[in-house]
Amino acid sequence: MHSPHIVVIGGGPAGATASTLIAKHGYSVELFEREHFPRFHIGESLIPETYWVLERLDMLPKMNNSHFVKKYSVQFVNAAGKLSAPFYFHDNKPHECSQTWQVVRSEFDQMMLDNAREHGVRVHEGVRVVDVLFDADNANRAAGVTVQTEGGARRDVAADVVVDASGQNGFLQNRFRLRVWDPVLNKGAIWTYWKGAYRDTGRDEGATLVLQTANKLGWFWYIPLHDDLISVGVVGPFDYLFKGRGSREETYHEEVDRCAAVRDRVAGATRATGYFATKDYSYRSTQVAGHGWVLVGDAFGFLDPLYSSGVLLALKSGQLAADAIAEGLAKGDLSAAQLGKWGPEFNVGVDRMRRLVCEYYDGFSFGNFVRNYPELKNTVTDLLIGDLFTDRVDKVWAPMESLYPADKKPLPSWDGGTPAEIAQNKSNELYLPEGKRP
Ligand SMILES: Cc1cc2nc3c(=O)[nH]c(=O)nc-3n(C[C@H](O)[C@H](O)[C@H](O)COP(=O)(O)OP(=O)(O)OC[C@H]3O[C@@H](n4cnc5c(N)ncnc54)[C@H](O)[C@@H]3O)c2cc1C
Repeated sequence: MHSPHIVVIGGGPAGATASTLIAKHGYSVELFEREHFPRFHIGESLIPETYWVLERLDMLPKMNNSHFVKKYSVQFVNAAGKLSAPFYFHDNKPHECSQTWQVVRSEFDQMMLDNAREHGVRVHEGVRVVDVLFDADNANRAAGVTVQTEGGARRDVAADVVVDASGQNGFLQNRFRLRVWDPVLNKGAIWTYWKGAYRDTGRDEGATLVLQTANKLGWFWYIPLHDDLISVGVVGPFDYLFKGRGSREETYHEEVDRCAAVRDRVAGATRATGYFATKDYSYRSTQVAGHGWVLVGDAFGFLDPLYSSGVLLALKSGQLAADAIAEGLAKGDLSAAQLGKWGPEFNVGVDRMRRLVCEYYDGFSFGNFVRNYPELKNTVTDLLIGDLFTDRVDKVWAPMESLYPADKKPLPSWDGGTPAEIAQNKSNELYLPEGKRP
């Protein structure tokens, strides 16, 4: 009898989580990552609910000993420059999970992948998965992958389960044409890093600031990192940011100049890097698993980064998939229903965050909401920390609706958008300054 073997495609937070937890369940895991770490990645602000997955990964001591900036809150600045009261996570939940981190992803992802190695995962860097293999007797059943080294050598690796954690590339999503673009969340982002820009102190030193642009079409993130760096990016409708305007650098500075709250904070600072940009169309997969395969992290779905939920969703889906795989192996069931049993509830949680994202783009004001419904501040904070997988938080929606303007249109559901194979002109792309690898 052979011992089960699991293959993971991609070594970002989702792949590192799934592989570590499968190894902790006692199974043999091999992970293939096409890049060599450390490599650049965007997605620097963690939210508190990552704590529980980091705890299961044995990552908390490493995070506590790291030099990552500690984050205790998030704060919103409206188009007129008015600051909301900060949403302090600890006031909401007095537990150490309420302190999280602002991470430099090249370092965080390296720590996560090293941690996977320490738990027995066989990690191969610089090795790309080029194909997923299916069973000769059952064409729907994944049976392994073909990998290719940088030298071009190829080999097949048999597997009982293939976990796709390939990020926005969405290896199996493309292959099975499972991607549906979100019908409303079509954004782009341009960002750079500043040295010596304004930093809050004390409990606010690591706060994420979300600052609305003056024309209310988009927003800035202002994320303090270690080594005196601040990550400052502008997000807006794709056409608004990228069509009929100058270079990315020119557009970025036009937006900074129009937003006094950002302009004043970076005045006198020096730029530490060139300009980064992405097309960031949100999307999800219509299926989370098949026989012998499962999707996690951005390979399953990507949600607009407004509330910094991406790494949490990568960690959470990685954990849920690992547990479903271990349970399936124990009972000899690697069907789509078993491997993807967590998918429906996960989707409901992502929908809660998606709704909060869409409300913001539709004019929802946190300050105004909390003034009208002070008793719901904690529940809104629950959503902001990523406590998404409970219907307890659903009590915010009716009061939110009571503040709607009369002409507000209903929000189309995530799967009401265009399947990727029809919208051929859409793709998520990343532009890096010279010298940076993806
Ligand atoms: C503008 C922007 C801002 C964001 N801000 C935040 C934020 O503040 N906080 C937050 O939590 N999230 C944020 N995110 C989201 C976050 O970046 C992602 O959700 C997160 O990185 C997903 O992790 P992952 O492991 O699924 O994918 P990734 O981190 O992308 O990892 C996928 C890995 O797979 C590898 N790979 C791909 N194809 C193959 C292949 N064929 N073979 C082998 N390896 C392969 C890649 O090299 C990569 O290392 C942001 C995203 C964007 C675009």
